[in-house]
Amino acid sequence: MITLSVPTHRREELIDITAQIRAKIREYGWNTGLLTVFCPHTTAAVTINENADPDVQSDILNTLAKLIPQRGSYAHSEGNSDAHVKSSLVGASKQVIVHSGELVLGTWQGIYFCEFDGPRHRQVYLHFRAD
Ligand code: ZN
Repeated sequence: MITLSVPTHRREELIDITAQIRAKIREYGWNTGLLTVFCPHTTAAVTINENADPDVQSDILNTLAKLIPQRGSYAHSEGNSDAHVKSSLVGASKQVIVHSGELVLGTWQGIYFCEFDGPRHRQVYLHFRAD
């Protein structure tokens, strides 16, 4: 298992980590198998979505903010309950196919780190299981 460092810059942000993941696939010579991309944080997540139009990323954040407002009648005292709920909805991990040393993604897909309570120094764990 290896760790990616993902510094975030705003409270809420989607960061495209596809290029960093591709670089690790090359660096470690991973060829064909399954790659798990895991977010070890309770107020962040990992998703796969469009990497062409950046409006899609802001639409995702804006829609989540409407569904799960930052200020609400939450019990958790840290003031970041919305971030915890968003983290659970979006999910802590994704599995991606790696074939012949390449990530198998759709043409318009990228892998995104989702920050919901930044800015912070975040990490993403990568674990490759060869076929
Ligand atoms: Zn909290």
